[in-house]
Amino acid sequence: MNTLNLSCYLVAAILIILALRGLSSPVTSRRGNYFGMLGMAIAIITTFVMNQAFVFWLIGVAIILGGLIGLIVAKKVHMTKMPELVALMHSFVGLAAMLIAFASIFNLSNEHSTTQRVELFLGSFIGAITFTASLVAFGKLSGKFASKTIIFKGQHLLNLVIFVAMLIFGMIFFVYESHVAFILMNCCALILGITLIVPIGGADMPVVVSMLNSYSGWAAAGIGFTLNNSVLIIAGACVGSSGAILSYIMCKSMNRSIVSVLLGGFGSEVVQDDLGAEKKSHKTGSAADVAYLMSSSDNIIIIPGYGLAVARAQHALQELTHKLIEKNINVRYAIHPVAGRMPGHMNVLLAEADVPYDQVFEMDDINNDFSETDLVFVIGANDVINPAAKKPGSAIFGMPILEAQKAKTIIINKRTMGVGYAGLDNELFYDDKTMMFLGDAKVCVEDLIKAIDDL
Ligand code: NDP
Repeated sequence: MNTLNLSCYLVAAILIILALRGLSSPVTSRRGNYFGMLGMAIAIITTFVMNQAFVFWLIGVAIILGGLIGLIVAKKVHMTKMPELVALMHSFVGLAAMLIAFASIFNLSNEHSTTQRVELFLGSFIGAITFTASLVAFGKLSGKFASKTIIFKGQHLLNLVIFVAMLIFGMIFFVYESHVAFILMNCCALILGITLIVPIGGADMPVVVSMLNSYSGWAAAGIGFTLNNSVLIIAGACVGSSGAILSYIMCKSMNRSIVSVLLGGFGSEVVQDDLGAEKKSHKTGSAADVAYLMSSSDNIIIIPGYGLAVARAQHALQELTHKLIEKNINVRYAIHPVAGRMPGHMNVLLAEADVPYDQVFEMDDINNDFSETDLVFVIGANDVINPAAKKPGSAIFGMPILEAQKAKTIIINKRTMGVGYAGLDNELFYDDKTMMFLGDAKVCVEDLIKAIDDL
């Protein structure tokens, strides 16, 4: 590699690091994305120029085709489908890492040193696990598979057996460079990716998604060593470590042990599904009822959830907030760290509707205020306010919730009395203080605005 190529790689690496820095705040995230795109473009062009032996047209066609598909999908995808798209992309990174390792092993002209064998082993097994685990995550997030916790007898023993088998085949590959052992090692890793993620319930999916993000980064970094490509090592390590930090933050805010999640829900108890156990009664109200209750309140906390994103009701909600503030009502938003389907989902939605940052409060900063709040308006949220999180044995036990149940009056907007993402009923719906305001969030908020104007 000559000095010019090395300098280009260095610039690309710096831009990728600046991209991550930019993404740490909504204000600088757009700039961060531009840095990332520029860094990646420089890395790709430099790699092209450096490797004269490449089949240029073939790689060029692949990049154009892949880029086009990516562009169309990204333009078409709804905000609510982003998490599953991200999971699918992680699976591609995992698959790419695995395929590169295979190409390197089965290229007979390649002799692999001891260190390279370790790199190939690590890169391909992490890649294989990431591939199938991300596919299962994609299925769970897109609703193709059940998002509930699936636990069966002997599950952890099965995972252990597969893991040990994978290590044994990896050792055989390491000692004898046996191709068969390498294939079997990867088969074990592919199965492990499935068995690790299947038991994880909906409420723990945020941790899984960020963890897979981290895995995909480490897989890319491992393969960067195999290909002796410094920019791939740096980019992979950046993704791997930032994903690991995000997983840690998620685990902390969800009150989960990272080891338990990494081991596929180790320590989870079999969950009793309390759906339909008894017929409970609930109160419903119209837009006029809710408008009256809101207008007679001095302070209101709004709790947005995934349903707000589905209904795309953020602009209508902002208009409603305006009207309430004009009536001298103190209105604030309370954001749960895992509300929606991706980290920061609600913050992004509210920012889109130009909700001022000083009206938006993170869970820890507002949770003590609910007991002095006249009215809580829950819009399209369910798991993040579910008191089942306080009951041992529940699939979401231990997860901190927004303490909506402590407010004087609770209004919950959703379309039906159905369950949230974790698949659990919510006793708050049947509370004496609660009024269900059923219907699509956008339609309901628009009706509410009219009803407030008519008061
Ligand atoms: P939930 O998925 O628990 O609940 C959302 C509710 O919105 C549903 O009960 C649904 O009820 C209602 N809803 C759907 N569409 C509409 C609509 N058009 N209008 C009104 N209501 C609607 O969401 P939460 O935000 O409370 O919790 C997030 C869950 O997702 C947590 O379990 C979290 O762990 C998980 N998760 C979070 C990720 C993240 O990174 N943030 C990633 C992956 C999973 P109905 O159908 O009756 O209308």
